[in-house]
Amino acid sequence: MAEKFIFTPTKIDQLKDNYDVIIIGSGGAGLTSAIQAYELGLSPVILEKMDKLGGNTTRASSGMNAAETFVQLNHKIVDSFQDFYDETFVGGGKQNNPELLKFFTEHGALAIDWLAQHGIELDDLTITGGMKTMRTHRPSSLAPIGGYLVTELLKLVDKYQIPLFDNIKVDQLLMKDDQIVGVKALANQEVEIHAKAVVLATGGFGAGKDLLAKYRKDLTSLKTTNQPGATGDGIKLAQNVGAKLVDMDQVQVHPTVQQDTPHAFLIGEAVRGEGAILVNNQGQRFVNELDTRKNVTQAIDDLGGTGAYLILDTSIRQRVKAIEFYDHVGLVESGKDLTELAEKTNLNPENLQATVEKWNKAVEANKDSEFNRSTGMERTISQGPFFAIHIAPAVHYTMGGVAINHNTQVLNTDNHVIKGLFAAGEVVGGLHGNNRIGGNSIAETVIFGRQAGQQVFKYLK
Ligand code: ADP
Repeated sequence: MAEKFIFTPTKIDQLKDNYDVIIIGSGGAGLTSAIQAYELGLSPVILEKMDKLGGNTTRASSGMNAAETFVQLNHKIVDSFQDFYDETFVGGGKQNNPELLKFFTEHGALAIDWLAQHGIELDDLTITGGMKTMRTHRPSSLAPIGGYLVTELLKLVDKYQIPLFDNIKVDQLLMKDDQIVGVKALANQEVEIHAKAVVLATGGFGAGKDLLAKYRKDLTSLKTTNQPGATGDGIKLAQNVGAKLVDMDQVQVHPTVQQDTPHAFLIGEAVRGEGAILVNNQGQRFVNELDTRKNVTQAIDDLGGTGAYLILDTSIRQRVKAIEFYDHVGLVESGKDLTELAEKTNLNPENLQATVEKWNKAVEANKDSEFNRSTGMERTISQGPFFAIHIAPAVHYTMGGVAINHNTQVLNTDNHVIKGLFAAGEVVGGLHGNNRIGGNSIAETVIFGRQAGQQVFKYLK
């Protein structure tokens, strides 16, 4: 077996006071932009405030969306940029920024190729809510994408010896004559670091109670799937230098989060994409499980606070490796048959049996006359043992953030570029409209992370 890779952050005494570009945040967007900038000959530095690297990216489970890829063709799936655009646009309530969405849908395939060229192969496919085609790319090990991606990107950071410091929090962007010239950051002491360009890759504010209270007071009592450092620092840093913010009230509540333990664990959409159904506390289906996150969340909320159960069998479990982990941490109930499962979960056994039988018939006929589900119907729920996971909605993703153009340049409130300031990933607002589609956040980090690295290079030339 290959030895487990452990990344060692750079020692703080190695910190210099000048780099070509400072990248704030070590999630998918930060790591990708640093690698891209380095490969173009720049000397980047990555600053991460937490002692854990990888941000919310490490928690991503389902995969990375892209259309017109070789991987899709290998699976005999013919897709188009236009379909990817249209389905994302409809899923986002037609509120997505068209300029960003166009760039995004047309650069996913390149991003998948770029990853493959770097030994990061996403050659299996699944589907997420709101999409009509299998375009969610994931590793063929079927492992959750986030941990895999961050580990593989860190291997490249390590190979290139890109300095990456942890436990260093950027708390100010420095401007001179309307241009970014560096940052102030707090490590064991306050330091100034200079650079002609800065990339904000600081993620969202799903764990930022103050911003949530300001923009979505109604959500402050919900749990969150986010890591504790997702506090929207980048949004505040950018606003302090005049950046425009967009869609700040658009916060995604994820429908399927196990939260009966002190932690909130997101149960990835691939579980439904591979065939699981949702039932209410009577053991009955109540929604098209693969409708958009917004609609599925609403349907669960309408149940009146009980949450719901994901129901699946062994064949579905084998298609989603993350379920091993969910089981390992005690989130999964199991039963040798549906009756035993119903007893363990306090669901009505007759109802559950009848629900699953009806669903299996719908799968075989490829027609769900009850809720019009049309995807994630490749397999029935029939191979024991059977499993149930209790879920309820939790704060998951912040669609709003700083305004950028498709070159990842941050815009001010007059829609002019703030010279030297770039942003990529969840810190950015606008791409997802009022609802992010599963698989689009990882795609956003790699597509716009690469773009930020390239545009910084162009800016510095
Ligand atoms: P994305 O998916 O957009 O890459 P992530 O949430 O994966 O976003 O990563 C963002 C990272 O940025 C997190 O690891 C977070 O701790 C880090 N971060 C946030 N604010 C700061 C800050 N002020 N200074 C340094 N790092 C920060």
